[in-house]
Amino acid sequence: MSSSAGSPDELYDVIIIGAGAAGLAAGLYAARSRLRTVLLERLGVGGQLGLTEWIDDYPGFADGISAADLTIAMEKQAKRFGLDVTYDEVLSVDLTDKVKVITGAESVYRGKTVIIATGGQPARLNVPGEVEFQGRGVSYCAVCDGAFFQDQPLAVVGGGDSAVEEGDFLTRYASKVTIIHRRDTLRAAKVLQERAFANPKVSFLWNTVVDKIEGDHAVNKLALRNVQSGEQSELEVGGVFIFVGYRPNTAFLGGQVALDVNEYIVTDEAMRTNLAGVFAAGDVRQKVLRQITTAVADGSIAALSADAYLKEQW
Ligand code: NAP
Repeated sequence: MSSSAGSPDELYDVIIIGAGAAGLAAGLYAARSRLRTVLLERLGVGGQLGLTEWIDDYPGFADGISAADLTIAMEKQAKRFGLDVTYDEVLSVDLTDKVKVITGAESVYRGKTVIIATGGQPARLNVPGEVEFQGRGVSYCAVCDGAFFQDQPLAVVGGGDSAVEEGDFLTRYASKVTIIHRRDTLRAAKVLQERAFANPKVSFLWNTVVDKIEGDHAVNKLALRNVQSGEQSELEVGGVFIFVGYRPNTAFLGGQVALDVNEYIVTDEAMRTNLAGVFAAGDVRQKVLRQITTAVADGSIAALSADAYLKEQW
């Protein structure tokens, strides 16, 4: 938990926003560089690691590692070198001057550099019933909600890593899982595809989209449409898990940092944004691969770039 609340009189070398894998790696590298660093987190350490159960693609763990254990280890490691993790929700930022001002719900923080590692959140399908039934059969997190659907048929929407991996995971609880994808080829990694194809409880509906999520007190069916034939159908389900991508958490930046068309932060290879002393790391930044490996790489680079900037400019 928080070791010290920020004080308006304190001028940090580095303020990191977001305690996912990128923020924790940045915190480790900044703390090891002996920079006065605070890491601000609104919810809980780990970021999107909290949305998954098991990690098989992070090097160094021959048999894989639970996401919770990896999170705990990352935080403990950074704190061992003195990282200050403070719980506060960042509401607004002023990043254009040499001293950066971060306004949180609890306190105001002043820093010489800022590393934005705020990640993102699941994209919505934007179909009727999605908002209405959220928490009553519509979910964006298999680990969080899967167990509510013991022996019920479930649908998963999407064709990326999340949809295929979480669809496979949900068969622990569900009687069967139907993965509904708008095309006829998956974007997910081959190893995840192989696992899902081999799972007798997983089936696929190709070239199909969800037009409406229906139910009474909770979801009980989906209105579907084949995008090639136009044919409409219904699928009876106890719940639907939506994994159709990702939206970066950049709205709080108030337009000060340059974003791409999808609202990801644009950086160079050193994680520098358009603003001097402001860096970005992890899923919040425009990049080709969003993984734990790339998040920790970004975080490490951002911290060392902040250190270099401090040596040059302060
Ligand atoms: P993603 O890779 O962007 O895939 C989104 C999927 O949703 C795509 O198949 C896309 O279809 C579909 N889609 C998007 N909008 C849709 C809509 N309106 N209606 C229906 N389908 C729609 O997202 P993700 O799977 O959440 O993954 C996000 C990032 O995290 C990726 O970089 C991924 O590699 C990473 N990740 C990695 C792992 C892992 O390595 N184990 C696990 C989870 C996530 P199209 O294919 O037609 O575009």
